[in-house]
Amino acid sequence: MGLTVLKVGGAVVENAESLARLIADFAAMEGPKVLVHGGGRSATAMAERLGMETRMVEGRRITDEDMLGVVTMVYGGLVNKRIVALLQAAGVNALGLTGADMDIIRSHRRPPKGGIDYGWVGDVDRADGQRLARLLGEGIVPVIAPLTHDGQGHLLNTNADTMAQTVACALARHYEVSLRYAFEKRGVMRNPDDPETLIPNITEVDFRRLCEEGVIQGGMKPKVENALEAIRQGVAEVRIGETRIA
Ligand code: ADP
Repeated sequence: MGLTVLKVGGAVVENAESLARLIADFAAMEGPKVLVHGGGRSATAMAERLGMETRMVEGRRITDEDMLGVVTMVYGGLVNKRIVALLQAAGVNALGLTGADMDIIRSHRRPPKGGIDYGWVGDVDRADGQRLARLLGEGIVPVIAPLTHDGQGHLLNTNADTMAQTVACALARHYEVSLRYAFEKRGVMRNPDDPETLIPNITEVDFRRLCEEGVIQGGMKPKVENALEAIRQGVAEVRIGETRIA
C-alpha cells in the first residue's frame, strides 16, 4: 500500500496562509500519511521575546539547556498542537508526537566537533516503523515535531529533514513510501529566485555536480542528501517542492 511522509519547513507552517494551504493539501492526500514539521523561526522569535539570544553555526541552532526548553515548548507544544487542531478541523485524526513519545525516534547527543558544541542536538539512530505502522493501521495520522530523545531521559533538538528520512525508511518495510519535502519554493532550482529554472530530476551524479557548481547550497544540501539516502534505503520516490506537488 502507498504511504506519504510529508515534511514541511518552518516557513510553510509559520505563515497563516501557507499553513492553511498545507492543511488543505495534506487533508486531501489519500491513504496513510505522516507529517513531520519544522519551526525554527518561531523558536527564534520566542527566544527573542524571552530575552534570549539565538546562536546558529552553519544553519544549526546551538541548543543549551534554556534553548532546549524553548524549542520543546515551541516545536512540541505550540507549533505541533496548532497543526493537530487544524487537521482535526479538516477531518484528519491527527496525533501530535515528538520522537520521545512511544519511543518513535531515538537519537544520541551530537559530540562536539571542530571546537563546536551544538549542545542538546540529536543525531538520529533509528525510527520505530512497526509502532508507527500500528498507529497508521488504526487510521491515526502522526504529526511529528523535530524533537527526539536518547533513551536516558534527555530530549534532543533534531533536524526535521533527517527525521522525515528516517521515518520514511523505517516505514518502507511496511509500505510503498513516497517522501516529500515541502518548502516555500517550487523545488530545487538553478536560480532559486527563478521558478522557470526548476530542475526536474536529480541523481547522485547530478547532486555532486550541482554542489560543485554552487547551485545546491545551504539548507538544500542536507535535504537532497537525505532524499538520496532515502532512495538508497528503499523509499519508492522522493519529491522536493511545494505542498501541492502531485
Ligand atoms: P526548510 O524550510 O525545509 O527548513 P531549508 O531552509 O533547510 O528548508 O532549505 C530550503 C532553502 O534552501 C530555501 O529556502 C533556499 O533558500 C535554499 N536553497 C539553496 N539552494 C537552492 C536551490 N538550488 N533551489 C532552491 N532552494 C535552494
